[in-house]
Amino acid sequence: MIDLKLTEQDPHAPIRYQYAVDRVLYTGKSEYQEFAVVTNPFFGRMLLLDGVVQFTDRDEFYYHEMMAHVALHAMPAPRRVIVIGGGDGGVIREILKHPTVEQAYLVDIDPEVTRVSREFFPAVAAGLDDPRVVHAPMDGALFMRQFEGHADAILVDSTDIVGFATSLFTADFFDRARAILGPDGAFVTLSESLHFHFEMVRQVQETLATVFPRVDLYTAPLATYGGNWWCFATGTNGLDLRAPARPPVTPTRYYCADIHRSCFLPDFLYRRLMEPGRTGF
Ligand code: SAM
Repeated sequence: MIDLKLTEQDPHAPIRYQYAVDRVLYTGKSEYQEFAVVTNPFFGRMLLLDGVVQFTDRDEFYYHEMMAHVALHAMPAPRRVIVIGGGDGGVIREILKHPTVEQAYLVDIDPEVTRVSREFFPAVAAGLDDPRVVHAPMDGALFMRQFEGHADAILVDSTDIVGFATSLFTADFFDRARAILGPDGAFVTLSESLHFHFEMVRQVQETLATVFPRVDLYTAPLATYGGNWWCFATGTNGLDLRAPARPPVTPTRYYCADIHRSCFLPDFLYRRLMEPGRTGF
């Protein structure tokens, strides 16, 4: 076997991950980013954008389920959801498991992500042709400025907080999200890792708190994201996301009611995270 190795170029991680590569299935470049689809003996197919792992066959469900289900289960009947980023369709697939959902907007800046996902990751892209999905390929910050309706949940499944994704982490963007959400709506965004990006995680919480009356943080264990202890930052107009409001949708492989109740950062750790100047627990 040819000994191919891939060194991930994670923009914020203090270490480099190296993956064995069996096959390179695709490489290409869009207007926005460089693509690679490779196979690894353990993770199966992997999608990389600009040299950073986005998801793998083996562990994508942890991330996609946790991005979608925590906020949606905290509501009795979510109807309209906006996904910013997430062009691969993984979060959409999970949202569509909620029978009350009538409309799910998919707002990824790069339509090439959707094309590549359809071709190489059919199980992730499975929901993309559902009639409830509204495809809006454009910059998420621009979409939010122009959107005139109301949504129950806004989920930001973007690339790392760098380059054109940084517009999705500003107080203006969060404020627009707050205005689009009703009193019982929820905003969720990735916010990197507690091991590697402690200050970045705090900064997202601080910015959210300038806008949302209630902010919180939950985590999930992800094998392929730098630092692994991966964060999801939330903002609501008052809704408490910490407990499910109804039984879990099925099928799921990781999300369940017990995970929902236990995934939020315990209060004592949250207080430490928010202490100014602190760089770790
Ligand atoms: N969860 C994955 C991770 O953290 O590695 C990200 C998966 S998804 C492929 C990320 C998507 O965000 C990409 O398809 C990228 O095109 C999209 N994206 C980044 N910045 C964006 C923006 N400003 N507006 C809309 N989509 C954006």
